Amino acid sequence: MRYISTRGTAPAIEFEDVVLTGLAPDGGLYVPETIPQFSHAELAEMAGLPYTEIAYRVMRPFVGDAIDDETFRRIVHETYTAFNHDAVVPLVQLSHNHHLLELFHGPTLAFKDIALQLLGRLLDHFLGAKGEQGVIMGATSGDTGSAAIEGCKPCENLDIFILHPHERVSEVQRRQMTTVDAPNVHNIAIKGDFDDAQAMVKASFADQAFLEGTRLIAVNSINWARIMAQIVYYVAAGVALGAPHREVAFTVPSANFGNLYAGYMAKRMGLPVKQFVIATNANDILHRTIADNDFSRRALEATLAPSMDIVVSSNFERLLFEAYERDSHAVADLLEAFGQGRAEIDDTPLARLRDVFASHRVDDETILEVIREAQAHTGQLLDPHTACGYRAANVARTDTTTPMITLATAHPAKFEAAIKRAGFDGVPLPEAMHDLMAKDEHYDVLDADLATVQAFVARHRH
Ligand SMILES: *Cc1c(COP(=O)(O)O)cnc(C)c1O
Repeated sequence: MRYISTRGTAPAIEFEDVVLTGLAPDGGLYVPETIPQFSHAELAEMAGLPYTEIAYRVMRPFVGDAIDDETFRRIVHETYTAFNHDAVVPLVQLSHNHHLLELFHGPTLAFKDIALQLLGRLLDHFLGAKGEQGVIMGATSGDTGSAAIEGCKPCENLDIFILHPHERVSEVQRRQMTTVDAPNVHNIAIKGDFDDAQAMVKASFADQAFLEGTRLIAVNSINWARIMAQIVYYVAAGVALGAPHREVAFTVPSANFGNLYAGYMAKRMGLPVKQFVIATNANDILHRTIADNDFSRRALEATLAPSMDIVVSSNFERLLFEAYERDSHAVADLLEAFGQGRAEIDDTPLARLRDVFASHRVDDETILEVIREAQAHTGQLLDPHTACGYRAANVARTDTTTPMITLATAHPAKFEAAIKRAGFDGVPLPEAMHDLMAKDEHYDVLDADLATVQAFVARHRH
């Protein structure tokens, strides 16, 4: 399988390189040259299979001959047997035709584990085969960092440097990163916001001279392997609820749009999805784009759902590429205009998007109300991100006869402060994390200055 850039001027590359590269040299994102297709019969056959087997079948075409069948099967199996639930991603019924897909049974209790546990293993496999060491740099607004660290901790061929905005992630999130004591794990708290951190990571990828030849690897949500791993649970949940014989719908708490774009890929591969609902918090660029054709930057707002606090939604470019029927010139022009502050999507691609996507924005006050409401009506305590999804699903779904699947992206224990503000006593940490608040932390606080950060990375890699 070959991968091409959404901006159209970077050469096509193979799966191994796409996993190791991240951003394309023309500034675009890689997407598969052709989208694999599953027939009705192939999808029907997946109903009832274990998650690891569905994962193998869904991802196999994207990997192509970069990894042999047996090795890939072993990697997939190791990845998902490490989860804390035998179903990996259990479905819970909330109400008539409304289901919750629990994506938080991995080591850091958020959906990012599903992709990053696989990505770490894939990177280690490829680097080991080449006899190389790699450096990972990533910026996190919360969950990505700990999930990336957990995914890379056992990797012999990787050092990982994660930048998080100082004092802007929850204590549980910070401790999940900083209590990891491993020689290849390095936490940096940046005196700035998430976008400052992300800008420094981007600049480091643009000019890698500071690493003197060591390979720099991105594990942010633009990495294709993460998208690929996330396609799996849409298919697994869809076939569990009757696809391909009937349609399903999904609501996804969204920010960088990696999660929902994976769902869109599942649809393009053959899963019959009637509707996708994009749920945002007050940082509503995705909602404004779909609802008002206002594709523009606004100032960052700190919300009760901090893992969705973004200004720019990086994976949305991949969806635009499809909405523009893969016209990379149009996408490059649009992103250029967006870079100046504000862009408008043309009528035809916008109509294509609105055909499949609805959106809804949920502010902080509503998040608290929804946490109480969902608990009273379903017995489920939702984390603040999932609460955005729950409300968006109820407001924006067009057809209540189609099963709606709302993605639960984090365990409520990760966001205990919000749960308490909603009026509950708190949420016990799951057994696997009971000593989190007692462990020692390891991190350095640095200014939001590129040279300072790069010097730190160059000095601390092993
Ligand atoms: C990352 C994250 C999101 C947003 O996912 P995207 O793929 O960036 O859209 C939502 N909820 C939680 C808990 C997250 O960690």
